[in-house]
Order: sequence, then C-alpha cells, then structure tokens
Amino acid sequence: MNKLSPIINIHDIPKYKVRKISKDVIDWCYDNLEIIKDKPDLLVYYTKNTGALKPDNWKHGPAGLYSYEKNKIYITTFARVKRKVTLKYFIGLLIHEFIHSQQSNERHEEYDWSTVKEYRDHDMEVEAVKYERELRSEVSKYICKKH
Ligand SMILES: [Zn+2]
Repeated sequence: MNKLSPIINIHDIPKYKVRKISKDVIDWCYDNLEIIKDKPDLLVYYTKNTGALKPDNWKHGPAGLYSYEKNKIYITTFARVKRKVTLKYFIGLLIHEFIHSQQSNERHEEYDWSTVKEYRDHDMEVEAVKYERELRSEVSKYICKKH
C-alpha cells in the first residue's frame, strides 16, 4: 500500500491497518497526555447497521463512544458511509474519545445534564473537542511516519 497521508480516506485503508493505527493513537495519547485513569480498552468495528443512531449521525460517521462503566472506547465505522473520511479526522475522533476516557467518572455522573441545552456545549464535550482539534495534526504526522 502507498504511504499514508493525513488526507487519505480511511475507507481506502485495510481494516486491520485501521485497527492498528487506532491502537497506536490511543498509545500515543496515553504516553503523551495527562493521565488519571487506566488505559481504556478499544474496539474498532465496522457495521452495515446504523443501530439506534439517527440517519443524521451515521451519514457523518464514523462515530465514537466511551463507556465510563467499562473504560472502553467504541469506534463504529459504517459501511454505508459514502463520504470521504480523512485519516486526520478519524485520528481526531480517537483523541476525542481518549480525552473522555480520562475525564473522571464522578464528574461524568455528577454533571447536571438538565442545564445543558446542546450536547456540544457540555463542558466535558468542549474539552474533548479542544484536544481533538489541537492534537490531530501532530498525531497524524506521527502515525503517517510510523506506518
Ligand atoms: Zn464527546
């Protein structure tokens, strides 16, 4: 395969390699960011199903989810997604979920969700988006050099 670049479409990267890259991104985060919890488990999977997600969400997939109960990150990549999803965007998604994995369970549980109008305005979400945007270029360069 050609050398990776941050703008390559992740749908053009073999699945086994996407999984390997994903693991490396989580390892990078664990080695370079402030850590308060154990390294999260990671599951990257591909599905034709859209599950409970609304069409609005899956159209823009892939999607990430962090389980505070299991300390596990789930990245779902939808086979039906036609649009280009760059490697850099995908790496940002992993960084985003890693940041959630280091936000304390207490903070998550105690948060008063009733005061939040929009999910994206939630301060834990704002924090995850900030790191995602700040770090995705740097981590993309690291990943492209490594693979
Ligand atoms: Zn989030």
